[in-house]
Amino acid sequence: MLGSVKPVYLVFLLIIVIPGIVGGMLAANRGRNFIGWSLACAVFPIFLLVIYFEKPIREVEGKFRRCGSCGEYYRWRDPSCKYCGTPPPSA
Ligand SMILES: [Zn+2]
Repeated sequence: MLGSVKPVYLVFLLIIVIPGIVGGMLAANRGRNFIGWSLACAVFPIFLLVIYFEKPIREVEGKFRRCGSCGEYYRWRDPSCKYCGTPPPSA
């Protein structure tokens, strides 16, 4: 009965579900609400760009680090703060 499933439904599912999941993951990486952002990104994929450029609201281990000097957030893997150049506290 697979033939009765129209591919257009699968495509529709993919363009809703994939932005939703990606958006939710980006939000979670930034300490934000996974469900809320995944719904927003599923309905309006433009929110993917919004959340991508959004700053984290808290430090997320392995994702974003808060600079102890200037208070800005930068990526965990960065060797130093991209705003003021202060290196993270040595582990
Ligand atoms: Zn800094």
